[in-house]
Amino acid sequence: MLTVDLAACDGCHLCEKNCPFGAIVVVGKQAVVGDACTLCGACLNVCPTGCLTIERKRASAEELARYKGVFIVAECRERDGVIEPRKHVLELLGKARGLADKLAEPLKVLMLGPDDKPMNTDVLFEHGADAVIRYRNKLLEHYATDSYTTVLSAIIAARKPSIVLLGATPDGRDLAPRLAARLRVGLTADCTGLDIDDAGQLVQTRPAFGGNIMASILSPYTRPQMSTVRPNVFPVPEPKHGRRGPVEEAEVVLARGVIRTRVLEVETLKAAGDEGIENAKILVSAGQGLQNRDNMELVAALAEALGGKVAGSRPLVELGWIPHTLQVGQSGTTVSPDLYVAVGISGAVQHIVGMSSARRIVAINADPEAPIFKVADLGIVGDALQVLPRLIAEVKEAKGPLAA
Ligand SMILES: Cc1cc2nc3c(=O)[nH]c(=O)nc-3n(C[C@H](O)[C@H](O)[C@H](O)COP(=O)(O)OP(=O)(O)OC[C@H]3O[C@@H](n4cnc5c(N)ncnc54)[C@H](O)[C@@H]3O)c2cc1C
Repeated sequence: MLTVDLAACDGCHLCEKNCPFGAIVVVGKQAVVGDACTLCGACLNVCPTGCLTIERKRASAEELARYKGVFIVAECRERDGVIEPRKHVLELLGKARGLADKLAEPLKVLMLGPDDKPMNTDVLFEHGADAVIRYRNKLLEHYATDSYTTVLSAIIAARKPSIVLLGATPDGRDLAPRLAARLRVGLTADCTGLDIDDAGQLVQTRPAFGGNIMASILSPYTRPQMSTVRPNVFPVPEPKHGRRGPVEEAEVVLARGVIRTRVLEVETLKAAGDEGIENAKILVSAGQGLQNRDNMELVAALAEALGGKVAGSRPLVELGWIPHTLQVGQSGTTVSPDLYVAVGISGAVQHIVGMSSARRIVAINADPEAPIFKVADLGIVGDALQVLPRLIAEVKEAKGPLAA
């Protein structure tokens, strides 16, 4: 329930102006809350006197049962003038389709963007969405925490989904905790597994205690259940071309006053050799077994011969041999290339969680007992400094004179 401390309210109108549902009216210098209030919390954020409070009780089983549906927040990018969902949204759709089917509830995607550009919703239906809830506003030209939190919390509070999923990308990691705090619900970040238990609850699995155990987390007392999932954890499902569904326009008021930041300029930073590895098809990844920085040339040569990119384990970042953007693993990037060559990498769990979904894993390690061999499709036991030159020569020979 939203309550107003009438003694503290000075009738400033900020809550009235910024309520996405027009649920607050200031009458005679005092805020009055109407039936349209969804408890989204937008008013609390702008109230200068702190006279507004939301009381939330632990929800009863009947209240929890009112929350239905699996929602995905679609992070988008503009490509050739069209607003497109990013690849991890399609990965989430594949996983969420299974969850929605188990619950026998609909799977919907929330898509936000500016009002002057077309949005590609077709790709969402082709990858499993039952419906798209769209919201367009010129204030959404660029991502900003305040605008996205206000719109999404308003839609979620009104529609009452039982599950909300976001990508654990830089924007998703910024947005999800803010949304969860606004809605006063829990959030499980960086999930590596999602399932539905016998009671219909979302089982959110993620590494805990430095990656040494996998924790299964439930949110039994609040709804929606919210999780973020890193890109490349789940595969993109096969598209069903021509599959379509309804696009609903969300009715929310977004006032400029709730957005405390202004994007003045967007600069894309891309230093040479600093390109990401997230979507690479072939990665040659180095570990401490390389022994010294000069030997990284061998890794780079194999990556070049294979037409791939260089990556590495966390110690190499700490040693300053590679930038953090090239680190694979729990505290780096999760990758799922077609081919992952791990050279001199032991296979610690924090590394494995970031690359085990690669289609083919080749490991080169001097120790036949190294844990990396447990996830490898092909293992080469030997000194990397001897194996790599031979491998480079073999690859070049196999590719013919053009590759030399
Ligand atoms: C909270 C937390 C988060 C972490 N996040 C990450 C992460 O995101 N990514 C990550 O990688 N790590 C991460 N780590 C660190 C992780 O636990 C390991 O310490 C790290 O992955 C080990 O890197 P490595 O395999 O390169 O080195 P090592 O474990 O030292 O392994 C080197 C391997 O090289 C082999 N070797 C030695 N000489 C040769 C040779 N001449 N030829 C071939 N093989 C040789 C050895 O047999 C050994 O298996 C994290 C740790 C914590 C606690």
